[in-house]
Amino acid sequence: MRPFEDFIKDFDAKDLNAYESSLRIMNHLNNSRENGIKKAFSNIELARQRAAYTKWKVSENLDKYLVDFEASVLRKGGKVLWAYDAANALHEIEQIINKGKGGRILNSESFLATEIGLGSFLNKKNLKCVDTSITSYFLDLLGESAFHPILPAAKIEREELLKKLNTSIRSSLEAGNEEILSDVRDELRRKFFEAEIGIVEADFIIADAGMVAISENEGDARLSLTFSKTNIILASIDKILPSFSDLELFLPLLATHSNGQFLPAYASILGPPARDETEVSPDFIVLLIDNGRSNIAANQEQRQGLSCIGCGACYDVCPVFANSTGMTSYQGSYGGPIGQVLNPLQKGLDQYKHLSFASTLCGKCTSVCPVNIDLHNHLLRNRHLSIKQNLEKTGEKLAWYTWKKLMLSRKNMNRPFAFKSFTLKQFFKDEWGNDRAFPKLAEKSFNQLWKEKMGL
Ligand code: SF4
Repeated sequence: MRPFEDFIKDFDAKDLNAYESSLRIMNHLNNSRENGIKKAFSNIELARQRAAYTKWKVSENLDKYLVDFEASVLRKGGKVLWAYDAANALHEIEQIINKGKGGRILNSESFLATEIGLGSFLNKKNLKCVDTSITSYFLDLLGESAFHPILPAAKIEREELLKKLNTSIRSSLEAGNEEILSDVRDELRRKFFEAEIGIVEADFIIADAGMVAISENEGDARLSLTFSKTNIILASIDKILPSFSDLELFLPLLATHSNGQFLPAYASILGPPARDETEVSPDFIVLLIDNGRSNIAANQEQRQGLSCIGCGACYDVCPVFANSTGMTSYQGSYGGPIGQVLNPLQKGLDQYKHLSFASTLCGKCTSVCPVNIDLHNHLLRNRHLSIKQNLEKTGEKLAWYTWKKLMLSRKNMNRPFAFKSFTLKQFFKDEWGNDRAFPKLAEKSFNQLWKEKMGL
């Protein structure tokens, strides 16, 4: 695998039509977001500061809040499992499945499920499993991947989709939106009735209440948990909030910054069912996944990145995201500017530092973040760290060394313009890419101009 080369190839593959269509989607989301925020918050800056403070408090005391959460869940009769990495998480899930009766597994596909490779793991095991989200159903049918965290299927071609639906579920080729959704819902909903295990991702986990909050647009996660006998909630360790009352701020912040709604279309807040509430209640298991996050949390300069609530706002103002082909361009669990900050830290700066370098550092991402993550400065910090760790390629180091030597030599500075332009291109042509004009050097050096002017 060559992450840097793949990254460049991916961005080079994007054409003007695709770029314009990305901009349309991003503008649409930006407008909805701005209107939604205006309606929902009288003082958005204060709301962001409060949210940032809560997340800072959590990140400084992560161990305490996670243990509190576990104790609260256990007290109510639920179970908490800890997974150090993706393999560990899949192992825990397999153990739960093996204890079951072989019924259907409902997997409400999420970014955390993708991060640990859950879908392909379940498929390889030949288990009776279904991905419950309509969006994932569309993407799977077309063999495409998610474009955006809030509108994953925003770029699919309608004609193409209708053809595929016609072949797979005999949907009409002339079907309207309502009809398409109803056909796919009918197809998926039958499978909910045979559910044994439902797997969903939590957006927030609440330490004092031992509960989880799930925000979604389709309602499939809620349905999965309702129909299954065992509920598995995937949660990365950074999703923790101290108190139930924090949801009052965080749910509207997430919804408005995602797509301008005051609250998510479906917001489920649940915990282990009270024992006397119902005779047959599902098992409630929370799988807490670390996967590199505690290493990030251990570094005081980096831990703020884990405050992300996954709203997607920073993607929509980012000129780099507009040029990408979507989430997959970011080579990790997170996309957009937050992906450029966290993916290299989670997967290793040595292989993924290019993500932090691919930015104009305009700072627009920082200005829209609901939890005030200082995104552009985190990108700069990652760059500094990679230099400090001596991670530049040998060719790059050599190029800068030679460049410095040349620049410090008057003789070389006064060499003919064509020679200097040629040399510069040799040094930087690969990094410069095909779509930017190479900078033009001045035909004469300052020294030459000065001599001419002064008649020396
Ligand atoms: S970094 Fe901030 S703006 Fe970007 S997705 Fe996370 S919370 Fe939203």
